[in-house]
Amino acid sequence: MARPKLNANTSEEFTGIKLTGPADFAAGAKGVQVALEHAISEMGAIRAFKTLAKLNQKDGFDCPGCAWPDPDDKRSVLGEYCENGAKALAEEATLKRVEPSFFQKYTIQELSTWSDFQLGKSGRLTHPMVLREGSQHYEKIEWDDAFDLMANQLQALENPNEAVFYTSGRSSNEAAFLYGLFCRAYGTNNMPDCSNMCHESSGVGLSQTLGIGKGSVVLNDFPQAELVVVIGQNPGTNHPRMLSALKDCKKNGGKIIAINPLEEAGLKRFKNPQSPKDMLSRGTEITDVFLQVKINEDIALLKVIMKKLYEIQKIDGDVFDVDFIQNKTEHYEALISDLDKYSTTELIERSGVDEKTIDQAVQLFAERQKIIICWAMGLTQHKNGVDNIKECVNLLLLKGSIGKDGAGTCPVRGHSNVQGDRSVGIVHKSSPALTASLKESFDIDAPQAPGLDTVHSIMAMYEGKAKVFIALGGNFVSAASDTNYTAEALQKCDLTVSISTKLNRSHLIAGKVSLILPTLGRSEMDRSKGKNRFVTVENSMGKVHKSEGKLKPASGHLMSEPEIIAKIASRTLGPESKVPWIEMSNNYDLIRDKIAEVLIGFDSYNKRVKNGEGFYLPNNARQADFSKLPNGKAQFSICSLPDHQLSEDDFLLMTIRSHDQFNTTIYGLDDRYRGVYQERRVLFMNPEDMLKYSFEKLQVVDIVSEYDGIIRVAPKFLVIPYAIPIQNLACYFPEANVLVPINHFATQSNTPISKSIKVKVRANK
Ligand code: SF4
Repeated sequence: MARPKLNANTSEEFTGIKLTGPADFAAGAKGVQVALEHAISEMGAIRAFKTLAKLNQKDGFDCPGCAWPDPDDKRSVLGEYCENGAKALAEEATLKRVEPSFFQKYTIQELSTWSDFQLGKSGRLTHPMVLREGSQHYEKIEWDDAFDLMANQLQALENPNEAVFYTSGRSSNEAAFLYGLFCRAYGTNNMPDCSNMCHESSGVGLSQTLGIGKGSVVLNDFPQAELVVVIGQNPGTNHPRMLSALKDCKKNGGKIIAINPLEEAGLKRFKNPQSPKDMLSRGTEITDVFLQVKINEDIALLKVIMKKLYEIQKIDGDVFDVDFIQNKTEHYEALISDLDKYSTTELIERSGVDEKTIDQAVQLFAERQKIIICWAMGLTQHKNGVDNIKECVNLLLLKGSIGKDGAGTCPVRGHSNVQGDRSVGIVHKSSPALTASLKESFDIDAPQAPGLDTVHSIMAMYEGKAKVFIALGGNFVSAASDTNYTAEALQKCDLTVSISTKLNRSHLIAGKVSLILPTLGRSEMDRSKGKNRFVTVENSMGKVHKSEGKLKPASGHLMSEPEIIAKIASRTLGPESKVPWIEMSNNYDLIRDKIAEVLIGFDSYNKRVKNGEGFYLPNNARQADFSKLPNGKAQFSICSLPDHQLSEDDFLLMTIRSHDQFNTTIYGLDDRYRGVYQERRVLFMNPEDMLKYSFEKLQVVDIVSEYDGIIRVAPKFLVIPYAIPIQNLACYFPEANVLVPINHFATQSNTPISKSIKVKVRANK
């Protein structure tokens, strides 16, 4: 009997809201207290302190949280992590277990009514599990049987493109390389990844303008920067140790401009827990000029800043880096004449920022030459996400702020190895160079046709064109846009497979048959033949380094990700495959040697990571080398203003993370920096809008989006008055993902429009 389809919406129950109002600083004693509370409650005190001492140390393991880099030189003995790094570790190193008996007790139907928070707090998965056709309960399966089941299903597909292989940013370089190799040997480029949903717009915009889809700065650029711009990013919650880098900039006389629809606590003031002076004082004021831009009006704001800079340039001639522009760039004249087309008044009005504040920012830009621009999803997850990035590049190019110390681009990556996965081949297109290398090193004929990215994979599953979905990590259904559509797509598959450490909603929104393959976490020992093994990862600034887990694994039945992938590959491809899958998964040195053989920049890979130091991958933008671009020049771009066509009662809604969450993982129910406690179903609204539409504080409302005649509803949110621009709204991801239409995404990058969703708000009846 077919299993009834499940709804993937998160729980609609309220959990007891308390409001205190926004905090005016980040970290401090409270940050330490919360970090320790999480770590100790999940791990116990001794295990917590011992494990935290190895987090982000050269002889330890990489934080499973964000991709912010560790210092190149010495690491702090007090701890090289933030509050949210401790929370991420606590989630992974928890002592709670999801044993087979758990699945005997609960049906997937019952579990689907749990919140993401409750599911995540269940603990670590301990055994491979299968959900058989028609069944409501996962049951234990032997590893061998699980691999046979997968191999049979993959072999039975009429076409390799009927399978989709998703990668989350947690996977190591070694696992990701093997996975990509397997996909291509199997015959498909269907390799969506979490980058498709977050920084793909950065990759596209940067590649087209600077010739590399990554940022150009390193951590040591921050103390040298004269000006750091943080735009569309909330580092206090999403990349907390970045606040130390901003503090270093300020200590040396640098200035900070913050551009965001919300004024976030982390960008107001930072009390570094490692600095006694900070802890005894007010800490460091971070932002010098805050520009509270309206949602998705960043281009209007950047254009008016560039227009005003050009006016000053015409008078004193010293504002732009004329030599750099002449020698290293092209299309400057086109940019200037395009700026001419816009009226300053109109741009200011669209941006939502007053002219006096804009002029303060312009002054800082005019007087400084070493500028870093940092950004995250506030720029990338819009229809014009790629143009948002290009406009930032325009500003940096005018100032000659690329390819010199203390200056450059800094897209701050969300998941710890999302950048590394891409570098080692997780991409839904195979370049001619990669194809040739794979042929030479492995005798693999990689498919030439581009594969499916995330949104197109979901569409293919929904339309029945893809039938097998395998996820290397992640919580796909909660991370993707259009939750109900994505859930239906996954449930149409013949087989869904999750290689996971912890229970999450994607295990419940299952295909006809579903497998959970439990794997080692970052913090755990990965042993082979009585010896510890290590893996490698790449941080947000292109540095590759080793990560070696220290804890006893959560269960004796776990396998490492490379082992799981190698077994799937060898069973599916059989003895004809010339790739030594099992040997490589037994000895990661062999994988790294092959990466060095196939990919540029990884020479002497093993040697360079074994000493704990690691190495930076080549970065042409860092060297101001634009030889790969047309005429060997960095490219100025012409970017248009977005056109949302809002009616009087429409709002633009952006999804945001609470301070107690990392991507889809919900650590707790508090958003301390925004003063919201014990509740996630909240809608941040400007008090004037509340008055206009007669919404009261904590009134229950439904949020409704309508695209192409399809109405999507996120029911039951509590309205909170908040300092957000008029006609703008914010609420938490993944609760609001249900509103994001699957077929509306950024031009060129296909990143969902999760930061500018057109919605209406109506009272819940
Ligand atoms: S800043 Fe990011 S990588 Fe560093 S400890 Fe915090 S969560 Fe982990």
